[in-house]
Amino acid sequence: MIARYYHWLHGKWPAGTIEKLPVVGEDGQTNVSGVRIVGDLSGVPLLKFSSETGARAVQAILSESSFPDERSTKADDVYDLVIIGAGVSGISAAMEAQKAGLRYLLVEASQIFSTVANFPKGKPIFTYPTEMAPSGGIQYGERSSIKESLLQDMQRQVDEAGIEITNGRIEKIQKSGGVFQLVNANSKEGETWKALRVVVGIGRSGNFRKLGVPGESMDKVMNRLHDPKDYAGKHVMVVGGGDSAAEAAIALAACGANVTLSYRKSELNRPKPENVEKVLELAKDPCAEVSVDRPSSERVTTAASSEMREGKPGCLNLELGTAPTRITGDAVFIKGKDGAETEIKNDAVFAMIGREAPLDFFRKSKVSIIGDWSVKAVIGFIAFMVVMAFLYHLKAYKTFLGIENTNLWQIFASKGWFPFNIPVSGADGGVLHTILKTASTDPGFTFAFLYTAIIVIFGIKRIKRRKTAYVRRQTLTLMAFQVIPLFLIPYIIFPILYNNGVFSSGGLGQWFGMTFLSDGQGGDPNQFWRAFGFILAWPLFIYNIFTEAPIWGWIVLGFIQTFVIIP
Ligand SMILES: Cc1cc2nc3c(=O)[nH]c(=O)nc-3n(C[C@H](O)[C@H](O)[C@H](O)COP(=O)(O)OP(=O)(O)OC[C@H]3O[C@@H](n4cnc5c(N)ncnc54)[C@H](O)[C@@H]3O)c2cc1C
Repeated sequence: MIARYYHWLHGKWPAGTIEKLPVVGEDGQTNVSGVRIVGDLSGVPLLKFSSETGARAVQAILSESSFPDERSTKADDVYDLVIIGAGVSGISAAMEAQKAGLRYLLVEASQIFSTVANFPKGKPIFTYPTEMAPSGGIQYGERSSIKESLLQDMQRQVDEAGIEITNGRIEKIQKSGGVFQLVNANSKEGETWKALRVVVGIGRSGNFRKLGVPGESMDKVMNRLHDPKDYAGKHVMVVGGGDSAAEAAIALAACGANVTLSYRKSELNRPKPENVEKVLELAKDPCAEVSVDRPSSERVTTAASSEMREGKPGCLNLELGTAPTRITGDAVFIKGKDGAETEIKNDAVFAMIGREAPLDFFRKSKVSIIGDWSVKAVIGFIAFMVVMAFLYHLKAYKTFLGIENTNLWQIFASKGWFPFNIPVSGADGGVLHTILKTASTDPGFTFAFLYTAIIVIFGIKRIKRRKTAYVRRQTLTLMAFQVIPLFLIPYIIFPILYNNGVFSSGGLGQWFGMTFLSDGQGGDPNQFWRAFGFILAWPLFIYNIFTEAPIWGWIVLGFIQTFVIIP
């Protein structure tokens, strides 16, 4: 029953782990002054955002007040700007730098637009958000709907802008003598470029996540599937739980391989529903007619279907809740949740466990990574917890761990400290008077006000940063929840209605006040905080249900919220 309840609560979400990315601020700024990050690594992995972030980073450099002076006094061998990576974002940055007449260098380790060039043949391209037009760099039009024509159109824009690319691989950014020094790891002579500013647009391609087990470096371990027919009749293990893993497993089994799909979680919930369906179908019936017509993963580079099979059907063995522990010449050992190790015959392994940001590059360059703990971060975290505990304790009207004279509310009130010293003005019962009176008698007001302000400020910042219709709607909804039912109604609207006698002069108003804002024993209808229950359904907010005397209004409403409205 608990398992069913957990399932009903969608306890499996959010699936996956939080991705580690460098900490990026406005216009790609990092903690290393002068180094900006653009493209996929700055947050949203979409083409239009790559153009936008690339162009914006250069526009921001141009608006830095010290940049013109630094340019005019720098040595001749120092570039104004070095851009690392000639993907969509790096090219967009270069186009903006070219337009501004900067002396820049664009360094690319493999090929221009390498991520897009590696998309599967004929891949349809979605240029979201539809209404967005990047403020500079590569633009997208009708020709952007298919990989091949997108590449041609982007190349045309590069040629028209006259962008030049230098071959090289940069592994870290160092600062010395007031300028950035970038060593080309591809050059034996230690070729070094110097720059006043650096824009990093190296994307995530090539940084496939590792299994981290012995034997991983063998040739038979791969992270791209080119032709599934090569594996007909062979024993193949696919590791992973996303679309790449599912599509590889389907393509291989459909073409006659004996596939084992190993995934560390006990449920396959990350791939698209149609891929999950095909995996389950094959696991039940190896002869099922399935196909991967248009692989969505760029790691599965050809379409595959059971019609391509020439020999015996393959099979798909699902090993959920397992992970490989070691790989040998002819086997893979996997371990289940019970700790038991199983040996599985093996000719090839496809490690399809996602990509990760090139974190080594950033760590070596001293760029902060989200979630990396530094001494400063630990001190900041402790200080934050202390301030929050203090604020919470101040509004809780309780002694601290039962120790006498530690009720902060009482101490602050008796000493006349903030917020108890807020001057109250305005006409009795009026809006201003009610707000100031609530603020000066209940520290909860200040707490809720601060909390609401933080949510609104962060919300606006988030909407500005992630300009997608989804994020906008989601964030506005969350902001509205906090502002209206959790602040305006309990702290301003209900107190005003109360002061104007709405809850005590009979009729519907009195019924409402006594039903939802009283203590259930006929007390004054001034327990405005109970209004949290309108939005925080039981059991999120228990204080309206577990009361000294039953408050029937809340019991009935809580029941309807939890068992009718939410389901
Ligand atoms: C399978 C797949 C499908 C996608 N489909 C879509 C879609 O339909 N619509 C959409 O909007 N977006 C899509 N995207 C996302 C889109 O491709 C990316 O947002 C975009 O390519 C990111 O551009 P970028 O410049 O950040 O990085 P990239 O395009 O990855 O470019 C980074 C460049 O840096 C180079 N590089 C890396 N390390 C170094 C180094 N150390 N030194 C020098 N150069 C280096 C690389 O060789 C590469 O050329 C898809 C992505 C994938 C993987």
